[in-house]
Amino acid sequence: MYYDHILIRYGELSLKGKNRKVFYNKLHENIRYQLVNFPEIKIKATRDRMTILLNGVNPNLLMPILTRVFGIQSMSLAIKVEKDENLIKEAALFALKDAENVKTFKVTTKRADKTFPIDSQAFNQIVGGHLLRETEGITVDVHHPDLEVHIDIRTDATYITSKRIEGSKGLPVGTSGKTLLLLSGGFDSPVAGYLAMRRGVKLEMVHFYSPPYTSEAAKEKVLDLTKELVSYGGDIKVHIVPFTAMQQKIHREIPYGYSMTVMRRMMLKISEEIAKKQNILSLTTGESLGQVASQTMESMHAINAVTNYPVMRPLITMDKSEIMKIAEDIGTYSISIRPFDDCCTVFVPNAPKTKPKKDKVEYFESLLDLNNEWAELMQNITVLTISNDQSHQEEIDQLF
Ligand code: ATP
Ligand code: MG
Repeated sequence: MYYDHILIRYGELSLKGKNRKVFYNKLHENIRYQLVNFPEIKIKATRDRMTILLNGVNPNLLMPILTRVFGIQSMSLAIKVEKDENLIKEAALFALKDAENVKTFKVTTKRADKTFPIDSQAFNQIVGGHLLRETEGITVDVHHPDLEVHIDIRTDATYITSKRIEGSKGLPVGTSGKTLLLLSGGFDSPVAGYLAMRRGVKLEMVHFYSPPYTSEAAKEKVLDLTKELVSYGGDIKVHIVPFTAMQQKIHREIPYGYSMTVMRRMMLKISEEIAKKQNILSLTTGESLGQVASQTMESMHAINAVTNYPVMRPLITMDKSEIMKIAEDIGTYSISIRPFDDCCTVFVPNAPKTKPKKDKVEYFESLLDLNNEWAELMQNITVLTISNDQSHQEEIDQLF
């Protein structure tokens, strides 16, 4: 006997009234996407939970993948048997023996199928007694057991489950619309993207780069970060914007101290333009209040003024240490730490204004004609899609 199913509990998404079906379908689709290399599995969704039939696949291969899928509250490995006392006992014994470091247990029976002749309480005792007889050094503790063996007697069959594995919670990616994430190679923006996805938002990326001041490796880093985020939210389209000419002009013609603010405004404006074309209704950044000169209240006020789009800033109130902790947990830290220059660090003045005045920025900008640079840049945006089942190396080679 062995685990042949994974049970998935929905959590928050089961609260969503009429939209339920949309949520189930999206979750189903997202799980299927991430498990594309396991065509033998079958997924079945019902009102209260989802069941993955393993068909011989080792569940330990699937768990690390599934713990990245948003919209899952928790999961359990399960054995499905007929409604037969001996088979149920055998399965319960397997579940108990398979778990590690268990000194105490408890059996909990749920009898949804009332035609099953033994009531829950009596059945707990029958199975519990069996487990005690068949093991050594393990006792029953009904209050704080190391392991709870669940027996779920349903009309179709009986499911035996034991340990509960926490899911990522949140909402299935794709149920809350789409955002355009301004993705740098730093630590913050990938974390911001992760948090947006956790609330069901699908991502597209925009990345600004400035050849030859920024290297090939810097772009590759951004694509690797995207690839990591694909394992949470499915395919991601990346818009790569050549920013050199515009940056140089800003750097040359805008009074020192204000160039950073103007550059940020342009990044936001270009991002809005891309979002418009893609029917995306919001932008997202990795900004955190007070972290650097561009992230003071005055800077954000002056920069944000170029767009009417909602700009989501999931990290706005977080400390750097909290952001770094999430980056480590989600797998982006080891990529973000690669030491390549970003376009913004190359052109940043030594002393950018921490309290730029919006009126002043607008005045300086009105003296600057960026039309040619704008048109040129828009024509040279490269778009590629990163997905989970192929290496993006080939695409990178073609691109650069
Ligand atoms: P990050 O770690 O995400 O780079 P940061 O703390 O270094 O953030 P900044 O460099 O000031 O902060 O950037 C603020 C935000 O602007 C980033 O989180 C990101 O959303 C966006 N951004 C910065 N540089 C780029 C870039 N080259 N391409 C796209 N977006 C960028
Ligand atoms: Mg940065």
